[in-house]
Amino acid sequence: MIMRDTDRALVQAATAVAKLRCRGDNHTVAAAARSADGRVFTGVNVYHFTGGPCAEVVAIGAAATQGVGELETIVAVGDRGRGVLPPCGRCRQVLLDYFPSIQVIVGPMDALRAVPVAELLPDTFVWADQQVEVPVSRPAAED
Ligand SMILES: [Zn+2]
Repeated sequence: MIMRDTDRALVQAATAVAKLRCRGDNHTVAAAARSADGRVFTGVNVYHFTGGPCAEVVAIGAAATQGVGELETIVAVGDRGRGVLPPCGRCRQVLLDYFPSIQVIVGPMDALRAVPVAELLPDTFVWADQQVEVPVSRPAAED
């Protein structure tokens, strides 16, 4: 999908946070996510050997903190001028499960594009599709 002006602004927002806040080994990637009403939420990764969250997940949490549960587009940008980074496998799965129609900005800086997350995760496991309703067995009525 062609990049819109709002998509470019999102890349700029993540780039600004990466430049300003990603210094040192603990925070190396910034993400920016836009809600349907145009609000932008940013986050940085929290590196830790036990499995600290990626910047995308932190941005999702920042949006949730503000009561926003629907995100339309997301992008991650690396520190030290690394540009736009594609989401890792875990983030792709999280994004798909939380926001099945979210667009993810990927690609080299001179050819960025916004793609549906499902396109980044073909033949995927969809958690919601696997939730089989099991009839609740009720104890026989007394008396
Ligand atoms: Zn990730």
